[in-house]
Amino acid sequence: MEEVDCIVVGAGVVGLAVARAMATAGREAIVLEAAEGIGTGTSSRNSEVIHAGIYYPANSLMARFCVAGRRQLYAYCAENGVPHRNCGKLIVATSRQEDAMLAGIKQRAEANGVEGMRVLTAAGAMALEPNLACTSALLSPATGIIDSHAYMLALQADAEAAGSVTVFFSPVLGGRVTGRGIEADVGGADPMTLRCRLLINAAGLHAPGLARRFGGMPDEHVPKAYYAKGNYFTLAGRSPFSRLIYPVPVAGGLGVHLTIDLGGQARFGPDVEWIDGIDYTVDPSRSAGFYAAVRTYWPGLKDGALQPGYAGIRPKIVPKGAPGQDFVVQGPQAHGVSGLINLFGIESPGLTASLAIADHVLAVSRV
Ligand SMILES: Cc1cc2nc3c(=O)[nH]c(=O)nc-3n(C[C@H](O)[C@H](O)[C@H](O)COP(=O)(O)OP(=O)(O)OC[C@H]3O[C@@H](n4cnc5c(N)ncnc54)[C@H](O)[C@@H]3O)c2cc1C
Repeated sequence: MEEVDCIVVGAGVVGLAVARAMATAGREAIVLEAAEGIGTGTSSRNSEVIHAGIYYPANSLMARFCVAGRRQLYAYCAENGVPHRNCGKLIVATSRQEDAMLAGIKQRAEANGVEGMRVLTAAGAMALEPNLACTSALLSPATGIIDSHAYMLALQADAEAAGSVTVFFSPVLGGRVTGRGIEADVGGADPMTLRCRLLINAAGLHAPGLARRFGGMPDEHVPKAYYAKGNYFTLAGRSPFSRLIYPVPVAGGLGVHLTIDLGGQARFGPDVEWIDGIDYTVDPSRSAGFYAAVRTYWPGLKDGALQPGYAGIRPKIVPKGAPGQDFVVQGPQAHGVSGLINLFGIESPGLTASLAIADHVLAVSRV
């Protein structure tokens, strides 16, 4: 049986960042990816926002990894020529009730270590963004946008320069925990079993299902997977805003916000649609809800301007209506299985946090 030191399952942004951390720390790493290329899952179906770290509960992994990861990510992009822009974002209130919520959001952001948050009057916000309608706003200068595919290519290149190997069309079907390491059964055209000392399950939406298919992994530590789809609609023509525009957050997501890509194309979303299975189609009839939500802060949105875009699915580990979840980085200390690290619930801000998550996985692997 072939042996490797470390297997990373999944070549999304998190798996690639983990492989880079492992390889640059001197470990032999192989990334096994079911699909034909890197980042075909959630990592290419998101808003491509570099989040500041505003909303997450103090000291949660999301708060810590978002703030640390964001600082690392800006530095990484600058050093590696990854296209990005520190464009800033406005969280806009459109009622007296929402005005009152901004102070609490600012306080939470500051507790998380987010720099430069500033409450603006309606006039102050509209001076920055003349097309905006609001009653007040919160400016987050640390927020930005990134070309996520260029970022993943840079991570892959770094990992491979340090000796890591990325293998496509190689689904990990399951495996078992043995006294001599973890055995992973790999499907594809040339099925094989590989033995490793460390296996990192970074399979995104499929991570809970995969963990359950490893004999020896206690079932009670594997959360049930839930899916919360986020649909996007794109805007024909130039973006009316130069910063990202977010409403005050709603349950389960950040509200229908406007993001811009590096080419200047604007898109709205993601909304929240709880679904039972993985399905990326965007139902055009959902646009009605988008028009209504967007017009609360951009009354200038014209009928017919929104086109169905794409969808991503949040890898939830709690059901609809449950209090929010945190990232779960589950190592031997949590589940008792030597050499296995599971990553569960890596939804937003997983892209922003990826370098910090990778550092943490490396630290957990050393315990
Ligand atoms: C709608 C939406 C918007 C978001 N917006 C943002 C944002 O603006 N900013 C931000 O920071 N974060 C955002 N996120 C979160 C971010 O996109 C994710 O946290 C991140 O992409 C997760 O990366 P990953 O590598 O864990 O998972 P994925 O990208 O899903 O990668 C998992 C990989 O594992 C592979 N795989 C699965 N099973 C197997 C198997 N058995 N064997 C081999 N390979 C397997 C898959 O093919 C896939 O390539 C958003 C998420 C969603 C859903």
